[in-house]
Amino acid sequence: MMPFVYQALPSRVIFGAGALDGLAEEVWRLGSRALVLCTPEQRHVAEEAARRLGDRAVGVYDRAVMHVPIDTARAAREEVSRLGADCCVAVGGGSTVGLGKAIALEYGLPIIAVPTTYAGSEMTPIWGLTEAGQKRTGRDPSALPPTVIYDPTLTLTLPPGLSATSGMNAIAHCVEALYAVDGNPIASLMAEEGIRALGRSLPRIVEEPKDLEARSEALYGAWLGGAVLGAVGMALHHKLCHTLGGSFNLPHAETHTIVLPHAARYNESQAPEAMARVARALGKPGDAPGALWDLAEMATASPYPNPRPVERDAVRALLEEALTGRRP
Ligand code: NAD
Repeated sequence: MMPFVYQALPSRVIFGAGALDGLAEEVWRLGSRALVLCTPEQRHVAEEAARRLGDRAVGVYDRAVMHVPIDTARAAREEVSRLGADCCVAVGGGSTVGLGKAIALEYGLPIIAVPTTYAGSEMTPIWGLTEAGQKRTGRDPSALPPTVIYDPTLTLTLPPGLSATSGMNAIAHCVEALYAVDGNPIASLMAEEGIRALGRSLPRIVEEPKDLEARSEALYGAWLGGAVLGAVGMALHHKLCHTLGGSFNLPHAETHTIVLPHAARYNESQAPEAMARVARALGKPGDAPGALWDLAEMATASPYPNPRPVERDAVRALLEEALTGRRP
């Protein structure tokens, strides 16, 4: 076995349906005046979290947006000062957790993350801030949420399409961890298990978004994806998505979904062991990039009812005909 370094990151994880019930107790371990963060769309979930905190919640701040624009971070930091908050609860996806990290970086306040997507940011010390169209990222131990509450019931409302792409985002962390330059056997174990859990659960979620068992398995896979993203360095796939997303303001999870099978094919010949593990985890030995493509295709296929099966090439021809205005 090759020598390796494994750096564990300190975080306390509470996992399970109904885990949000323990929020007040978890806040109490870290502070007594919590500002609850969320996006405008998830305000009702954040309000429910604040209600559970009673007078330990000093407010709900619902301005989180993708890629943490610097003005949003500054406004949130001012709100923290104005209300005298001593910790934050970030209820939402990577955008909301990212806003919490921007506050933690400035003030050193602890963040209790309550993830509702599969992005995995809650398990990493990686922060991002966007200023004048440029996204800067870095690693700082103070950005790592000390406590993470994974409650799968909060993910039941994540629409099937976003569930699938967000899940592929988590799989991308796992795939790149398997050939990371600083990879190690522990991270690889977690990565393979993460791919297995997500590969099994995502198609079930697209079929039945309220399947709590599948939701639990996907969130477990997402946790593992976040853990390896925080533990080892990523490679070409993440670089491409970061560059494309930043340059063209593309949606994060969708970009990962589209690029991943092709990045895997690009690296396949130089990372045979990693690819064998990806393929094994997806139950399709021999063709990891193809298996990733099939999973993305299956998971993102819209179940919209239609008399004729919706076929890729035929729909492309339909759109071309419509674009040119030809008589059908
Ligand atoms: P997001 O947080 O932007 O959420 C997408 C949308 O889904 C939002 O409108 C949100 O309100 C909604 N939503 C979230 N959970 C929901 C639920 N359960 N039900 C219904 N709606 C829900 O998307 P994301 O993909 O989680 O995060 C993307 C951002 O996170 C990007 O900025 C990316 O760079 C960052 N990110 C950072 C890291 C890191 O380690 N720093 C890791 C992964 C992603």
